[in-house]
Amino acid sequence: MKVPYFDLPAQIRALRPELDAAIARTLDAATFCLGPDVAAFERDFAAFLGVPHCLGFNSGTSALHIAMRLLNLDPDDEIITTPYTFVATSWAISYVSARPVFVDIEEQTMNLDPRLVEPAITPRTKAIMPVHLYGHPFDVDPLLAIGRKHQLPLIEDAAQAHGARYRGRPVGTFGEMAAFSFYPGKNLGACGEGGALVTARADYAARARSLREHGSSVRYYHDEVGYNYRMEGIQGATLSVKLKHLPAWNQRRRAIAHRYHELLKDTPLQLPREASYAESAYHLYVVRHPSRDKLREHLAAKGVGTALHYPLPLHLQKCYAHLGYKAGDFPMAERAARGCLSLPVYPELTDQQVEYVAASIREFKDW
Ligand SMILES: *Cc1c(COP(=O)(O)O)cnc(C)c1O
Repeated sequence: MKVPYFDLPAQIRALRPELDAAIARTLDAATFCLGPDVAAFERDFAAFLGVPHCLGFNSGTSALHIAMRLLNLDPDDEIITTPYTFVATSWAISYVSARPVFVDIEEQTMNLDPRLVEPAITPRTKAIMPVHLYGHPFDVDPLLAIGRKHQLPLIEDAAQAHGARYRGRPVGTFGEMAAFSFYPGKNLGACGEGGALVTARADYAARARSLREHGSSVRYYHDEVGYNYRMEGIQGATLSVKLKHLPAWNQRRRAIAHRYHELLKDTPLQLPREASYAESAYHLYVVRHPSRDKLREHLAAKGVGTALHYPLPLHLQKCYAHLGYKAGDFPMAERAARGCLSLPVYPELTDQQVEYVAASIREFKDW
């Protein structure tokens, strides 16, 4: 048996008639840059989350960048974030010449540890930007409380967490803004690149709308330096098709995760556990063990694909050497990076494949 780490062609095959029809409509209308398909998707996604404003972007990274622009930061202002995430989270901070201030993660969820945030606040701190990592919500309430006390907005990086819930409410609805990614491998992925910024603030939505289109609200009149960050019409069309399937897909991801929990609970692996407040979207199913490299080789030999999210925390990346962090600064993130192993988890996986992955792990004796 072969179990690829991810099988995007299988997802696309199942949707081909719907996607073909949607793309054909956009082609016929020739509405390629923003346009009615993007506007329709923005309405659909805003309704799905229950947020007043949703703006389509050409990537999640662009949406995060605009979130940072909206904060009017000065150079050397500080944004508190996690060192254990995809680098796009901190790119957004770097793009506006602000400084990512990393704070270590919690042992169980691998999300930003709220207990460590307050000591990291300085007079230059301007926002807190945690990540709903792997689709598991970060602990929103204590971070909102810290934000209220110090008058710091919470910005959610929800790029991996479409449809995840915190105390019953979808993530992306708690902060002043949230960014989503529709990179094809995400729980909700475009047929190409895409992203969204969501917010309850009408002033932020209006300015983000202008910034994503060359800083103009009236064509050829430019109020400030902007970007070409428009979502493509075809992506809006494909995303509306896929959004209808997202609840069922997330349910299937959760069922697979629960099956893994069952089948792997007697192994030496540290399994991902949901916090009491969380309903994870299981973008990734990440187990941990110090012998993960050997286990990974064993699984590759059995035909099981795996991945590492993430092998090197951000504070130890070459691009951030100038920030002056060193090994040992964030022991939890460093330990997670050494032990993490992402198992296949996507809706198209069959029960037999899930059982095969688990059986292959149970065969491994070289812990
Ligand atoms: C995917 C991702 C992004 C960036 O999204 P793109 O659409 O790839 O630009 C940002 N943050 C996190 C945590 C991500 O996983």
